[in-house]
Amino acid sequence: MRRYRNVKILATLGPASDTPEKIRALYEAGADVFRINMSHGSHEDAAERHAAVRQVEDEVGAPIAILADLQGPKLRIDTFAKDGGELLEVGQAFRLDLDHTPGDARRVYLPHPEIIGALKPDNTLLINDGKIRLTVTEAGSDYVETRVEVGGQISNRKGVNVPDVEIPLAALTEKDREDLEVMCSLGIDWLALSFVQRPSDVIEARDLAAGRAAIMAKIEKPQAVDQIDGILDVADGIMVARGDLGVELPAQAVPPIQKRLVRRARSMGRPVVVATQMLESMITSPTPTRAEVTDVSNAIYEGADAVMLSAESAVGQYAPQAVAMMRDVAEAVEADANYRIILTRSRTPAEPTVPDAITAAAREVAETLEVKAICCFTHTGTTAMRMARERPLVPIAIMTPIRKTARRMALLWGAHCVVTKDVGRFKEAVISALEMAEQHEFADHGDYIAVIAGVPFNVAGTTNILRIAQVGEKVGPGDTIV
Ligand code: PGA
Ligand code: MN
Repeated sequence: MRRYRNVKILATLGPASDTPEKIRALYEAGADVFRINMSHGSHEDAAERHAAVRQVEDEVGAPIAILADLQGPKLRIDTFAKDGGELLEVGQAFRLDLDHTPGDARRVYLPHPEIIGALKPDNTLLINDGKIRLTVTEAGSDYVETRVEVGGQISNRKGVNVPDVEIPLAALTEKDREDLEVMCSLGIDWLALSFVQRPSDVIEARDLAAGRAAIMAKIEKPQAVDQIDGILDVADGIMVARGDLGVELPAQAVPPIQKRLVRRARSMGRPVVVATQMLESMITSPTPTRAEVTDVSNAIYEGADAVMLSAESAVGQYAPQAVAMMRDVAEAVEADANYRIILTRSRTPAEPTVPDAITAAAREVAETLEVKAICCFTHTGTTAMRMARERPLVPIAIMTPIRKTARRMALLWGAHCVVTKDVGRFKEAVISALEMAEQHEFADHGDYIAVIAGVPFNVAGTTNILRIAQVGEKVGPGDTIV
């Protein structure tokens, strides 16, 4: 099924979307990448969802990406004696300590001695997605005493955010390491890391994944925002994780950060996903709010590679409708003449390298001549990412003999990934691109396509040829370069 849009849709799997039939419905509505959230469910659930996506991929015959999202060092309080927890009142004292006894209205166990050790008076603690706000009044060796600034219901295992401190925790917990190994052995395309704080967190995961998955750094800590260039240097992509980001920072700080992150990622040629609460009301309603539609469209106007659904597709009552809504918004935005102007103005110039010279030239050709697609031969996907960085006017057909590359690049802006037979010579690449362009309905007889590739083949980062070819032309030995 050909897609007629550039931005990709990432749908989180969950109880509302855990069978091949339901996943297929999401794919048909427009989902390109499926996210398995390791914060919920067992390894068996994850394996089942993984197998279900692969089954759908077989059925539809197009590469589909799977992203496994590691929980990361997410802090949580322990449990309460009373069902439903306790109500915290503004101004009262509340203690977090290292005592395993179930909590009450005065205290609860915080099973993170490092955090208790790192907190100082006046630091803020946020509980339950920031709904409850506490200020540390006294920091003991095995407890912190706090004052409730914003009260509310506190209950079992609610998340805790500590925006003021760089948490002295490894990027990957014991659970993350296990999840990483389980998911990498199943075969995933992207691995997302939660609560990344520094570039070394990404490097650690990259070493463990050892090439089995591309690494996406979730930007949800102020510390990560501050080091974004260093993180983009070592990550394959980023996610603007607005849920936790909007807890760690004031909500109004998130939109400017989103714009900055999308721009930086685009300029460095790394895919960027905008995530969380995009169509939140569709968890329980068949139609979104106008504000949500505007939010999705803004991310698309910014030139993000993908927009993401979380609970909307994982547990929502209208999962396929939420995906279809994103698709409809994408089609409306991308048909707007302003979209093209905005993307062009926000593009950063090509870097002085041979592959960038070629990809920028291919984009220009597509602006000068009516080419129907830019066919990009790639093994590792590096060239594909540089091509997508140009945000060309026409679809990018990514042609690769490596299924893993085709799946990974399914996340990329404008990319249509096709697994092809390995070509040894440029002439074969041109022939294969022309055949593909007709088969996949990019071009008809007489239409032009652009083909970019690197010669010799099978060497990463060698993109050095741009050829304009016409469907129906005879690609004889005389008119090829190799
Ligand atoms: P999460 O990440 O859904 O895993 O928390 C996304 C976010 O925080 O926005
Ligand atoms: Mn998060």
